[in-house]
Amino acid sequence: MSTSGACLCGAVSYTLTDKPKETGACHCSMCRKWSGGIFLGIEVPSEAVSFDGAENLTSYTSSPWAERAFCKTCGSSIYYRVTAPGPHQGTYHFGYGTLDGATDVPLTGELFIDNKPDGYSFSEKTHQMTTEEVMEMFAPKD
Ligand SMILES: [Zn+2]
Ligand SMILES: [Zn+2]
Repeated sequence: MSTSGACLCGAVSYTLTDKPKETGACHCSMCRKWSGGIFLGIEVPSEAVSFDGAENLTSYTSSPWAERAFCKTCGSSIYYRVTAPGPHQGTYHFGYGTLDGATDVPLTGELFIDNKPDGYSFSEKTHQMTTEEVMEMFAPKD
């Protein structure tokens, strides 16, 4: 069963080949600024998505290893994507809020839990990772 998503104004839309099974929250300061709140990412391999209106996307290189794409008309945060070479290159993390429906996708993980503002927290029992653990996962020491 495929799942679709779109920005607020509809200029950009996408279709995922499969319905997402889970989502993860990122509490890092960049995701908070970019999303205007809490970024809930849906991890999707690059070959499992097709875009309609991709020319309406603008991407911002937020770090040497990733970019963040948004609608140039309405500013909706569409996806975060790893650009650095390695096993994660090209993987998309679509914003949960851009999905059409599919509101039963469960929150299962939280990244950079040590950066979460004290003013809120999720009640779901999630797999929480600290900054140190996230860095170890993406750039393991050899
Ligand atoms: Zn838009
Ligand atoms: Zn983040």
